[in-house]
Amino acid sequence: MLPADLLDRLLPDTAPTQQWEEANPPRDLPAGAEVTRFAPSPTGFLHIGGVYTAMVAKELAERSGGSYFVRIEDTDQARAIEGSDEHFARAFPHFGIDPTEGPDAPWGPYRQSERSEIYRSFVRALLESGHAYPDFVTKDELAAITERQQAAKVDLGYWGEWAVWRDAEPERVTAALDEGLPFTIRFRAPDAPGRIAFDDAIRGRIEADDNRNDVVLLKSSAEPLPLPTYHLAHAVDDHLMRVTLVLRGDEWISSVPLHLQLFDALGFEPVRYAHVAPLMKGEGKSRRKLSKRKDPEASVDFWMAEGYPVGAVRHYLRGLANSRLADLPFEEAAAEPLRLEEFGASGPLVDIPKLDDISADYVAQMPATDIRDRLLAWADEHDPELAGLLRATGDDLLAIIDVDRVDTDRVRKDIVKWSVFRERYGFFFPELFALVDDPADERFLGVPPEVVAAFTTDFVAGYDPDTASPGWFDQVRGLAERHGFALDRKAYKADPDAFHGTMREASNIVRVTLTGSGQSPSLDQIAGVLGADEVRRRVGAPAG
Ligand code: GLU
Repeated sequence: MLPADLLDRLLPDTAPTQQWEEANPPRDLPAGAEVTRFAPSPTGFLHIGGVYTAMVAKELAERSGGSYFVRIEDTDQARAIEGSDEHFARAFPHFGIDPTEGPDAPWGPYRQSERSEIYRSFVRALLESGHAYPDFVTKDELAAITERQQAAKVDLGYWGEWAVWRDAEPERVTAALDEGLPFTIRFRAPDAPGRIAFDDAIRGRIEADDNRNDVVLLKSSAEPLPLPTYHLAHAVDDHLMRVTLVLRGDEWISSVPLHLQLFDALGFEPVRYAHVAPLMKGEGKSRRKLSKRKDPEASVDFWMAEGYPVGAVRHYLRGLANSRLADLPFEEAAAEPLRLEEFGASGPLVDIPKLDDISADYVAQMPATDIRDRLLAWADEHDPELAGLLRATGDDLLAIIDVDRVDTDRVRKDIVKWSVFRERYGFFFPELFALVDDPADERFLGVPPEVVAAFTTDFVAGYDPDTASPGWFDQVRGLAERHGFALDRKAYKADPDAFHGTMREASNIVRVTLTGSGQSPSLDQIAGVLGADEVRRRVGAPAG
């Protein structure tokens, strides 16, 4: 162990760890309450897998009467990207994963770069207890060690006799300091590691080789502010912030042996772990992790820009987590608790067409006022022109949304996400609608232009706007008959040349002139929402 004056040179002015223990009191929570956290790194990109884990973490905390917070893990300053804070500030409230505690709670600060004093205290304590040591090894020396290990066919890493500063005499450390050499602080892994076992709340009992590497705990003293590595920060933060359950990506499973050693060396109660399998993408018959580089849907930006309603996303992600919830009706599923033991050990597949179906069902059961509010919030952000039109439409917007949604057993399910609204409902807004004024337009399915012109002229002349009466459609039938369309298929089949088409082609004329498309919701309802003048203007357009 190194003498105190040498420790003072390595890490001067450190507060006793007791000070932090007192400033971060144990939480006064009911038995069984979970304290969880979401710990993203500010790399300018929030992965949907992060939202998935965070949603679970928050839900488990809230359901158990506990607490959930967000900790920004910015100890890797080289990877930090500007704008991450703004990105998080938009995404967290959007997905409902913002913290239930902080920023004034005693367990902060919640940004690791603001906690360096705290880490230094605990590193100093590890130096004092002999669980850590300063290491002056250079990059070149490390590379040489690796080469010799490869030649000797032993495990790579900084361990045992390969760890050349592990048992350095104080004089050697003093000399290195006198020379001004930069150093890191490394963990002194226990000698003669064997196998260990631990319980994971998702995967159950896991056995693994214990850690033998002297990992770096505090990065180079050459940095302006030497920050800890993830390993030390995890142990110190999750202990001091009184976390009870660490939910994190399963890439960390292999680090658990080290983390348990660190908790032990620091004298902390070990924390419970739940390692969450990553979200996957299907590629042909195989699957791979949803990738930041290859898959737009890996980023939360995609989900926000496409405008998937958050309730649908939540339902979908919860169904991926616990498949028992996937097929329950929305409310029932939401009332059911998530169970960690039901998470799969292999990652669930994110299937966008499936999400689209769920989302369409979800929107179909939303009250029109909710759809309006969510749609407006989305449009404000992503389609301001549409937002303006929606607002100007006033209460008619609710009538537009409710076309084919009330008093029908075949509820319209064409809003899959807010971004399709413009394309699918745009025709309701005169500003977004282009009149179909060419009687030879191919959307009229080959009906001769003079027939289209005569039909539409007639329609306008005798238009009865009473859409409440079951007779609205009869006027289309009457016109069809008068203008040479067959009212039933049989008659048409018997002598196709005698007709311009069937009722399908006839009502298609009205449909195309009213909506611009051969597919639309019920025409009488559309006509009711548009009002008689607009109906006359549109249907009359090809009349010339
Ligand atoms: N910052 C770490 C990561 O993004 C957090 C892991 C954890 O939750 O402990 O992987």
